[in-house]
Amino acid sequence: MSRFQGKTAIVTGGASGIGKATSLRLASEGASVVIADINAESGQTVVDQITADGGKAIFVSLNVTSEDAWNAAVATTVETFGGLDLLVNNAGIGDARSIEDTTIEVWDKTIAVTQTSVFLGLKASSAALKASGNGSVVNISSIYGLVGGSAAGPAYQAAKGAVRLLTKNAALWWVESGVRVNSVHPGFIDTPILEGAPREALAATVPMKRLGKPEEIASMVTYLLSDEASFITGAEFAVDGGFTA
Ligand code: NAD
Repeated sequence: MSRFQGKTAIVTGGASGIGKATSLRLASEGASVVIADINAESGQTVVDQITADGGKAIFVSLNVTSEDAWNAAVATTVETFGGLDLLVNNAGIGDARSIEDTTIEVWDKTIAVTQTSVFLGLKASSAALKASGNGSVVNISSIYGLVGGSAAGPAYQAAKGAVRLLTKNAALWWVESGVRVNSVHPGFIDTPILEGAPREALAATVPMKRLGKPEEIASMVTYLLSDEASFITGAEFAVDGGFTA
């Protein structure tokens, strides 16, 4: 299958977990992929894997909280691959502190990396995505962008809720330009972000009684990015083993 032949994608946080699985899947279906991350070593490993499999990818150093870095990343993408069609705003950091334990520094950092990053990504990519004529964006929120939960800290919960509505806002602003924007809400997925978390206890709270795999999120993300989802915009999709059912 080559649903993404001739298309170019930026995946933030593409060096690990859900972003990595999504990057590999996009490349395997023909996309040129820009792995945009702060972790150059892991990002380059993903690029090497894609290249070894015959795909096209580059690593771009991007701190998603920096508007200048975003503008540079989009410029490099357009220079290298001739345009930008697909954007996955995936980078984020977890936080499970209580309200009392959340310092203003933790609040500001979590909001910057997990929420402001999505706004900056949309803004920096706007012209290129519109020029594509068939642009598609997926913002990675969380089950905690849909329902409350004490396994999430206040800043993470607020940020993921904001990503859900920012998605709908962008979808409506951009509907006439042909750029679709949707959000995906993963449940507990077995990635490094769960390091230190009680994985077995989390899995026990899921109706399917297991953690999800990053590839199971990548399936939904790539569906929404593809032309198969041509009538879907401003919508939210939980991929969570029944957690929010
Ligand atoms: P992960 O820790 O495996 O990957 C996150 C990636 O983001 C890493 O490569 C990291 O280097 C990168 N990153 C962190 N800060 C960055 C920054 N400032 N600029 C650029 N890149 C940065 O985590 P994951 O589980 O793959 O998480 C991906 C997304 O999925 C996150 O937004 C997370 O909140 C969301 N999510 C994850 C789960 C889960 O259970 N794994 C559940 C719901 C939502």
